[in-house]
Amino acid sequence: MNENVKENKDTIWDKCLLFIKERIQEQAFETWFDGITAISMDLDSITLQVPNQFHYEWLESKYRLLIDDALKVIAQRPLIVNYSVVISDKKIEEIPTLSNTNKPLPRNYHRKSQLNSRYIFSNFIEGKSNQFAKAAASSVAENPGQTPYNPLLIYSPPGLGKTHLLQAIGNHIVSTNPNMRVVYLTSEKFMLDFITSIQKNHSTEFISHYRNVDMVLLDDAQFFQSKEQTQEQFFHLFNDLFQKGKQIVLTTDRHPNELKGLKERLVSRFQSGLIVDIQPPDLETRIAILMKKGEDDGLEIPYDVTELIASAIKGDVRAMEGALVKLLALSSLRREDITINLAKHVLKNVLGTISLTKINIDYIVKLVCKDMKVTERQIVGKHRTLKVALARQTAMYLCKDYTEASLAHIGAKIGGRDHSTVVHAYKNIEKKIKDNADFKLQINNLKEKLNNSNPNY
Ligand code: ADP
Ligand code: MG
Repeated sequence: MNENVKENKDTIWDKCLLFIKERIQEQAFETWFDGITAISMDLDSITLQVPNQFHYEWLESKYRLLIDDALKVIAQRPLIVNYSVVISDKKIEEIPTLSNTNKPLPRNYHRKSQLNSRYIFSNFIEGKSNQFAKAAASSVAENPGQTPYNPLLIYSPPGLGKTHLLQAIGNHIVSTNPNMRVVYLTSEKFMLDFITSIQKNHSTEFISHYRNVDMVLLDDAQFFQSKEQTQEQFFHLFNDLFQKGKQIVLTTDRHPNELKGLKERLVSRFQSGLIVDIQPPDLETRIAILMKKGEDDGLEIPYDVTELIASAIKGDVRAMEGALVKLLALSSLRREDITINLAKHVLKNVLGTISLTKINIDYIVKLVCKDMKVTERQIVGKHRTLKVALARQTAMYLCKDYTEASLAHIGAKIGGRDHSTVVHAYKNIEKKIKDNADFKLQINNLKEKLNNSNPNY
C-alpha cells in the first residue's frame, strides 16, 4: 500500500487546502474553503463537508479542477470527491470582506513576472473616469518603449484600477511577446529585495537582475517615500533601462508633485513621460463593472441589486467588489436567492447605516408623487395635465441634483424621455422657484426630506 494512503485524511486535506490557498485569491479561499473539512476518506474517494447545497454547487462548478489537482498532487492518486451538506450557522459578520485585502493575490499567476492573469484589458471597464489611463496603458502594451509615454505614470486613490491596468500591460506582453522579460513588482518588494541583497552581500546580483529586464511595472511607488537608499537604486535602474529604450510604467497614489520624501531628481524622472490619473467611476461605469464581474463568474445578479450596490458604494471599486462577494457568500450560506433585500442587508453591514442612502430615482419619484398628489403611473406615463407635468419636472429636477444618474438615465426612467427633456425640466423648475415663493417653499420642503431621509435599511 502506498505510504500516503495510510496518511490520515485530515493531514491530506490540510495539505490540499494549502495547495489551493496558494492558487486562488485570499478572499475566495476564505469564502469557499475555510472550514471545509474531510469527514471520510478511503482508497478512491474523499468526502468533504460543506455548509449547503449552493456551496457544493459552487465548489463543483468553480473549483472542481483545482480540488482534483490538489488531491492528485497531495494524495498521489485521483480521488472521487463526494460532498456532505450540513446547515451552517455562520453569520454575515464572519464573512470576510474583500476591501481588507489590498494586494492582488495569485490565481493562475505567472510566477516569473508576478503577473495575475485575472487582470487583463478586456475585463477592465472603460468610462470617462479611466479612459485616458486605459488608452495610454494599451498603447504602451502594444508598443513598449516605442511611444513617448516612457515612463507612463498612473495615479489615483486606492481601489480604482491602477494595479489592474499595470498587470494588464504585463499580461498583454507575456502573451504577445513571450520572449520579453517583464517584471511586475511593488515598490515595497523592490525595497525588501534590496535590503535582503545587502544583508546577504548580493547587491551586485540584485542590480544586474533588474537591469536585464525589458520592462518594469512598478506598483505603488509612493512607498519609496523617505527610503533614500532604495530611491537611489531605483534612480540608477531607471536611467539604465530608460537609456536602453526599455519601457517603465509606474503607479502612485497621488500626483508625483504631491509625494513628499521623494528626491527631486526621481520625481523629475517620473514626470518626464506621461502622467495620467484615474478618477472615481460614475454610476453607469460602476454598474457596468459589477455586471461584468457577475458575468465573468457566471452569476445572474438581478439588475436592481447591481444598481443598489453601485449607488451605495461610490469611490472605491475594490470595496464595491467586496460587497458583491459578501453578498454571494451570504446567499450561499443562507441558501437564499440574491435579492434586493439580501443586498440591503449586506450593504448595511458593509457600510453601516449612516453612510447608506436610499436616494435613487425611484425613491424621488415616490416622494414627489406623495407630495404633489399624483400617482406613480401618471408621472412615468404620458399624462400631460399641468399638475402631472409639473410633478414629473420636479422629480427630474431633484433626480439631477440628488442622484448620480445621468440625464439620459433620468429621462428614460421618468416617462421614457430623452436627456434634453430633463435639461428643459430642470431649467423650468429653476425658473419657477425664482418666480414663485410658494413653489420655492414646496421644493425646499422636498429637499429637506431628501437631506434628512433616514435610510431604513
Ligand atoms: P488600485 O491598484 O488602484 O488600488 P486595483 O487595480 O487593485 O486598484 O483595483 C481594485 C479592484 O477593482 C480590482 O479587483 C480591479 O479588478 C477592480 N477594478 C477597478 N477598476 C475597474 C474597472 N474599470 N473595470 C473592472 N474592474 C475594475
Ligand atoms: Mg494597487
